[in-house]
Amino acid sequence: DYGLREADPDVRAIIDKEKQRQFRSLELIASENFTSRAVMEAVGSCLTNKYSEGLPGKRYYGGNEYIDELETLCQERALSAFSLDGKKWGVNVQPLSGSPANFAVYTAILNPHDRIMGLDLPHGGHLSHGFMTPKRRVSGTSIYFESMPYRLDESTGILDYEMLEKTANLFRPKLIIAGASAYPRDFDYPRLRKIADAVGAFLMMDMAHISGLVAASVLANPFEYCDIVTTTSHKSLRGPRGGMIFFKKDPVLGVDLESSINNAVFPGLQGGPHNHTIGGLAVCLKHAKSPEFKAYQNQVVSNCRALASRLTELGHTLVSGGSDNHLVLVDLRPMGIDGARVEKILDMASITLNKNSVPGDKSALVPGGIRIGSPAMTTRAFTEKEFVAVADFIHEGVQITLEAKKSVASSKLQDFMNVVTAPDFNLMDKVLD
Ligand code: PLP
Repeated sequence: DYGLREADPDVRAIIDKEKQRQFRSLELIASENFTSRAVMEAVGSCLTNKYSEGLPGKRYYGGNEYIDELETLCQERALSAFSLDGKKWGVNVQPLSGSPANFAVYTAILNPHDRIMGLDLPHGGHLSHGFMTPKRRVSGTSIYFESMPYRLDESTGILDYEMLEKTANLFRPKLIIAGASAYPRDFDYPRLRKIADAVGAFLMMDMAHISGLVAASVLANPFEYCDIVTTTSHKSLRGPRGGMIFFKKDPVLGVDLESSINNAVFPGLQGGPHNHTIGGLAVCLKHAKSPEFKAYQNQVVSNCRALASRLTELGHTLVSGGSDNHLVLVDLRPMGIDGARVEKILDMASITLNKNSVPGDKSALVPGGIRIGSPAMTTRAFTEKEFVAVADFIHEGVQITLEAKKSVASSKLQDFMNVVTAPDFNLMDKVLD
């Protein structure tokens, strides 16, 4: 039995290159982070060898005594990380990632063609919240359920709760989905609860991006108002790639969420859980209770504020005027440039972030903004001072992109611009990322 370097030098070489890329670049993708060595050790362990369909104590395979112990520990730590009372809340830690976690919830509580409302993708929502274009039902969520997205108020960049309320009253959704992939503000959960109650809808929060901030009480607590809370584990939470679903134990709208959600995950949608991921998740959730984790999450937010205010000083326009959380959304249109070109130029300088649509964008092909997140570089010990420098670098990149755009007379440069705006740099590759 050989190690990777001997068994497969090709794959080893690719991993080494990726490690170098991660090491040398300024990692500013808001949904990414660097997990700990301890988490990676669990993820790379023998736990990957074991089948354990079912739940602790109720498995379809033998040999699960330690896997039961592990999954139970992971569940306990998940509830504890979010200060939840195990009599009132339960959790399923088996979803393979964020989108499957969300789809398991829909499968559990909806019938095909039931109506749902989530934040529109071009306004910061996630694909799995029901995204569709006028021509195409893009996500499985919009294929199997009837989706009526809600949006931001374009003049403020803040979620338009009033319009959501009006639309919900007409559309009568069975589920309202809160949460976003590119929204720099916190959510008004009491207001969302009121809207859901008025139409008899379930309220689910997908806190994938902000779960670390929620665990550290840096942002409002969705558990006080929502029936179901889903999350990925690899973003601000700093765990392995995976997902979790938290559900109220008491029936909601006549539905036993515990059994319906557990059954939707398995056997509804998945087979054997990824026990190596559950091991890594347990490690990350232990860390989430530590004072260092809380300090880290506070630093994530302070760094993001420093980034936001420096960008503003440099004349950039931020969607909603700033940020409450770990990300800023820069509207580059007033600068006369788009997010696709800026992303490409910054990538050449090992500054990794993503182009993003901003409210009012006419074209999804060349979105007008960029999304910048602070979690990953905060893990690498950046403080406010370094994030001011990051803002300066980004600004410089924008200036260089603008100059390049102005001098498109050179045919070589024209070719380059054609490449950077080619269809594979359109919004969908961010979406399908
Ligand atoms: N939910 C939100 C809000 C997200 O931002 C994302 C991913 O970026 C997901 C769900 C999906 O997670 P995954 O990529 O693990 O399926």
